[in-house]
Amino acid sequence: MNYGELVRDQRKFFEEGSTRSISFRKKNLEKLRAMLVIHEQELSEAVQRDLHKPEMEVVSAEIITILEEIDLHLKKLDSWAKPKKAWANLISLPSKNEVRRMPYGTSLIIGAWNYPVNLLLLPLVGAISGGNTSILKPSELAPATSSLIRRMISGTFNRSYIHVVEGGVDVNQELLDQSFDKIFFTGSSRVGKIVMEKAAQHLTPVTLELGGKSPAVVHKGADIKTAARRIAWGKFMNAGQTCIAPDFVLVHRQEKDELMKHLKKAIRKYYGRKPEESKDYGRIINNSHFERLTNLMTDTNVIQGGECDAEQRYIEPTIVDGVDWEHPIMKEEIFGPILPIMTYGDQKSPLELLRPMPSPLALYIFSEDEVFADHLITNLPHGGTCVNDVIMQIANPHLPFGGSGASGMGQYHGKYSFECFTRPHAVMRRSTWPDPSFRYPPFGKKLFLLKKLFLR
Ligand code: NAD
Repeated sequence: MNYGELVRDQRKFFEEGSTRSISFRKKNLEKLRAMLVIHEQELSEAVQRDLHKPEMEVVSAEIITILEEIDLHLKKLDSWAKPKKAWANLISLPSKNEVRRMPYGTSLIIGAWNYPVNLLLLPLVGAISGGNTSILKPSELAPATSSLIRRMISGTFNRSYIHVVEGGVDVNQELLDQSFDKIFFTGSSRVGKIVMEKAAQHLTPVTLELGGKSPAVVHKGADIKTAARRIAWGKFMNAGQTCIAPDFVLVHRQEKDELMKHLKKAIRKYYGRKPEESKDYGRIINNSHFERLTNLMTDTNVIQGGECDAEQRYIEPTIVDGVDWEHPIMKEEIFGPILPIMTYGDQKSPLELLRPMPSPLALYIFSEDEVFADHLITNLPHGGTCVNDVIMQIANPHLPFGGSGASGMGQYHGKYSFECFTRPHAVMRRSTWPDPSFRYPPFGKKLFLLKKLFLR
């Protein structure tokens, strides 16, 4: 396919102006909504084929989340898109000022495989609502979903408005060689750097939704049973392949045994004695990730689980301890069902232990002590926080979602998605009268007056 021609077609369509109309945007949000509802069953089956993901997780995290987002945009778009009045300052008087939200133009949305519907179509809601055209590139690692989404989109939208390009790394690189007006990327920090480098060639603004090692800090006096239930739920859903899953636990040493006991109980309750037979437990996406994960277990003390089956790419929900901060498992995002338990309480505080690590996407704090939680929230760089739970911060579309530093840049969800796909644009209106000569040369004593006025 000639991607240059595709981008030119989309840009021409954008320049013709129809995507700017609010009614056009709403009509297409409704089309996207209907498309999801009609194909819900097929989508569930495709994601299950790619990831062995339980239908409950597909319907809730992949489909309902997008429907809710669309409904919010349909309800709020008029007010978000309305130009906002701005004040004039002394120098700009008299004038009328406003801030408009302008669509970028033609956007490229690149998705990851772990939530293959959500990570492609949730940003698309923002792109439509912002008035852009879009080229979508699903991950090649979830092929059944990728091909279904291509068919769904091409059956619903005109190619010059929204189009899906399937393929692997080569295709992605060719797409990134084109000049887009906005790039929205979800994936690893490694590829995020490549995307940003390519975008720099065209000075294209980017949003990078990356990953990282999100810690779950469990403080002295926390509700340990609930903490364990929630951490086990968030860690082992989708077999640990969730960008905001708790990557590891950092527990106060006095609470460690109790936490381990309840984590084991929770795992048994969710997935039974044989998780490989549970319909509700996922598989690792491919052989190279399976190998990477089994290697990470080397030189750890397996407290729970540890069973693996290469043929099925199955890794049992696993808890390990006995690792120090230099162990490979503490040096990269795990992105699989292995949960290391680290402790604090002897010398260094959680802040001292966590601050040397790259900024994670999420920080989870289980604590009844608000001062303790607030101290960590304020002083530890990270994308977003959830206190006394995990994952749930992503379920509220009124909160921005995104990373900081190594875990990404830019935010989306709800109003933040609309803002992500539009830029604030200044409009000042001046009348031709009065036109005092103060700003025009010759300046004479005007500088003296200016200093007198402002340099106080
Ligand atoms: P990835 O970076 O390997 O791939 C993402 C996309 O980039 C895919 O579409 C792929 O085709 C493309 N790609 C891969 N290598 C490339 C290259 N060399 N040049 C150009 N394009 C390339 O990520 P992944 O394995 O699909 O997803 C896992 C990562 O994504 C994890 O780090 C996870 O934390 C992160 N993630 C983040 C979020 C978020 O919302 N912040 C959500 C899901 C996943």
